[in-house]
Amino acid sequence: MENRPLKLSSLKGKIVAIDGPAGSGKSTTSKLIAARIGYTYLDTGAMYRALTYYALTNKIDLSDGEKLTKLAHILPIEFKTSEDVNRVFLNGVEVTDEIRRPDVTKNASEVAAHKGVREAMVRKQQEFGKHGSIVAEGRDTTTVVFPKADLKIYLNATVEQRAQRRLLDLMRMGITTTLEELQEDIKNRDHKDSSREHSPLMKAKDAVVVDTTNMTLEGQVDYIVNLIRTTFK
Ligand code: C5P
Repeated sequence: MENRPLKLSSLKGKIVAIDGPAGSGKSTTSKLIAARIGYTYLDTGAMYRALTYYALTNKIDLSDGEKLTKLAHILPIEFKTSEDVNRVFLNGVEVTDEIRRPDVTKNASEVAAHKGVREAMVRKQQEFGKHGSIVAEGRDTTTVVFPKADLKIYLNATVEQRAQRRLLDLMRMGITTTLEELQEDIKNRDHKDSSREHSPLMKAKDAVVVDTTNMTLEGQVDYIVNLIRTTFK
């Protein structure tokens, strides 16, 4: 993978939005792309995860949309990048690892399905991106959060490949599970995220589809940086 920063005067203040299903490589790819082009990285999924983690820890009923909406408005969620790690803070306490726990992953779709929760999060995300120069990723960044993004990408990969990647991620975190279990989880999440009533995961009409099934991480990053180069030349 090329590591040289991409410097183009036309890059200033633009928004790159990347959506796709769980495990399609959005987070890692977006983080590396942001670093290459000198942009800030916005992980919208981490915000839904942080709220889910708070709800689980405080035994809040996940079907209580009203309560979760109130929390979504008032809970301070912050990002700080250090040593290439995108650290997440909730109420001033770091929750970077906690929000990746399997119980949080499993329940985030339920929390994220509440209309009020989404409205609160979308507002925060738009505020975060109001000066541009960001790479935002999630499920609705190309359709709802930044419908006028300068470059929209829809990342996809087969369920088998996505489960395989998640397995490696979890193994690195010391969490044991099976490929079959992960495939089931991913299918369930795909279904919930794509069939929900409010801002479901879908490909924006003007998004470029990138199928990462047979791509390495380096390949994905180089491919998208090239797309950025040609789009913003
Ligand atoms: O991307 P990640 O897997 O971290 O997202 C966790 C969950 O948050 C997703 O399964 C989805 O339910 C929700 N999400 C969402 N909208 C986004 C980002 C994530 O609904 N923009």
